[in-house]
Amino acid sequence: MDSCIFCKIVAGQIPSSKVYEDDLVYAFNDINPLAPVHVLIIPKEHILASAADATEENAALIGHVFAVAAKLAKELGLDGGFRIVTNSGDDACQTVHHLHFHLLGGKKMSEDLA
Ligand code: 5GP
Ligand code: ZN
Repeated sequence: MDSCIFCKIVAGQIPSSKVYEDDLVYAFNDINPLAPVHVLIIPKEHILASAADATEENAALIGHVFAVAAKLAKELGLDGGFRIVTNSGDDACQTVHHLHFHLLGGKKMSEDLA
């Protein structure tokens, strides 16, 4: 999608700090990290604006995102644990409408999820 900042990152039109890439997903460091490790994992294709649009058809892709997250968590040394977050819609303060998953770790996080 032309106006989407994450599509531009995948296309290399906006620079990013790449952490991982394969045929399906791209992972890069968040520009405004909220934890020592804050990686965004996104499908390369702009097929879903948010988790609200997920269907059974997307199950394999979303499962792959979680497999990549687990692999990256190991590689990045998140042995103490990590959090995966996806914001969907205004109430969740979603700002970029290209499905993405925040992989957060490297510190003891708040018990509050909301
Ligand atoms: P959301 O609030 O939609 O769940 O998360 C969007 C995330 O994208 C935010 O954490 C924000 O810091 C990050 N972000 C927005 N623009 C850019 C950018 O140009 N580069 C990178 N690396 N991260 C970005
Ligand atoms: Zn996009």
